[in-house]
Amino acid sequence: MALPQDRLENALDDKKPTFSESEARAEAERCLYCADAPCIKACPTEIDIPTFIKKIASGNVRGSAKTIFDQNLLGYSCSRVCPVEELCVGDCVYTGWGRDPIPIGRLQRYATEKATKPEEKALFTPKARKDKKVALIGAGPASLACAGYLALEGVEAIIFEKRAVAGGLNTTGIAPYKLHAQDALHEVEWVQSFGVKIETGVEVGKDHLTGQKLLDAYDAVFIGVGLGEDTKLGVPGEDGPGVVGATAWIEEMKLHKKQGEKLGHVVVVGGGNTAIDVARECALLGAASVTMVYRRSAKEMSGYAHEMEGARVEGVQLVESAQPVGFVRSAQGELTAIRVARTEGGKNIPGTEYEIPCDLAAVAIGQSKLRALASEFPGVEVDARGCLKADPATGRTGNAKVFTGGDCVNGGKEVVNAVADGRNAARTLLAAWGF
Ligand SMILES: Cc1cc2nc3c(=O)[nH]c(=O)nc-3n(C[C@H](O)[C@H](O)[C@H](O)COP(=O)(O)OP(=O)(O)OC[C@H]3O[C@@H](n4cnc5c(N)ncnc54)[C@H](O)[C@@H]3O)c2cc1C
Ligand code: SF4
Repeated sequence: MALPQDRLENALDDKKPTFSESEARAEAERCLYCADAPCIKACPTEIDIPTFIKKIASGNVRGSAKTIFDQNLLGYSCSRVCPVEELCVGDCVYTGWGRDPIPIGRLQRYATEKATKPEEKALFTPKARKDKKVALIGAGPASLACAGYLALEGVEAIIFEKRAVAGGLNTTGIAPYKLHAQDALHEVEWVQSFGVKIETGVEVGKDHLTGQKLLDAYDAVFIGVGLGEDTKLGVPGEDGPGVVGATAWIEEMKLHKKQGEKLGHVVVVGGGNTAIDVARECALLGAASVTMVYRRSAKEMSGYAHEMEGARVEGVQLVESAQPVGFVRSAQGELTAIRVARTEGGKNIPGTEYEIPCDLAAVAIGQSKLRALASEFPGVEVDARGCLKADPATGRTGNAKVFTGGDCVNGGKEVVNAVADGRNAARTLLAAWGF
């Protein structure tokens, strides 16, 4: 699907552009090809990092891509969105010595970007069609990885996606300076080139497609539905123009808003990575001011410290130990300010309320769980958090035909965790069928 070129996200440039051949080779040659490489252990998909880097150093870029995809079929988007500072790069031996680590993410991008381009000679040839078919729910990274690995082995894989676009949060949620929606969709098309079918605009459990219909028609079902809508604060004045859920605003910005739209004074509520992302996006898009409001201290934020550091550099202000108690609106209903109270230990201190003027407030305090989908499938259970229960190594649920993985199981981690789950479920099915 082609997206309009003048959409707002395209005003934000790629922060880590792809390496040239000489840059990639120079960096690859610095790798020590460690035995028991700590970078491999730090990767949730356990990519053989020294091997793919060695192949870049020797000029075998396609071979390098193959090494990556064998473990992580979405190695291209992961190369661009993974928080490598917290994963492989953070554990590179050079980091421990206080020296510049190997830029593993950027080398991975160098190896995979070309290989996933439509004009490139296909890297994989799917095996002959077998007599098995799998339905997958949600076209995010978890399902795409699962469907892709199944299709390469000749299993018929069809994904049902409720949105008009596939790719899940890779398309609708990731900060544009890491991955633009169009690039996420190119990766989806590459997975489709293995024979994976995607039907968009179909919400399983709501529209004509029930869980029972899928169980009757397919040999197995994979649930990869991610998380639901943004959680609300539940304070007075929240409903109305100017107050938005963070992921809803990001999706609008990535897919629909047009370049040239001006941002005024923005307040972001929350201290996680989504809060930091939306604050940085607004700052980079030229907002008059961006203020994050977090109910505890900066060091208690769940968002990554390196991302918060980036936000500060881009001009984001942080108000620590403060919590919204309401939104202030003009007589015409327009948002004029957010009212906050100072907090101690996360609790409001009486008599400390004050207002921060704003014309946009993005609420980033979490997303709901799509627990209702479990009731479509007998035997599939939900845990106390509202996440689907599954064996992490295999993706198996309490229903022998149903597998699941990604955010709907882990409550919201990273793309690479969703890919690992999808891959593991595919491997479990393929092993069970003897393929
Ligand atoms: C704002 C934001 C920024 C992020 N940034 C990063 C980052 O920089 N790096 C990183 O690694 N991770 C990041 N993440 C996390 C990452 O995006 C997720 O962990 C990952 O996308 C999870 O993949 P998934 O396939 O489980 O779910 P999703 O990507 O959420 O995909 C689920 C899909 O299922 C569809 N669906 C839901 N219900 C149904 C139904 N009933 N029928 C049909 N379809 C359905 C949804 O429309 C969606 O397309 C971010 C998350 C957010 C919210
Ligand atoms: S830890 Fe660093 S130097 Fe060692 S193999 Fe991994 S990337 Fe190379």
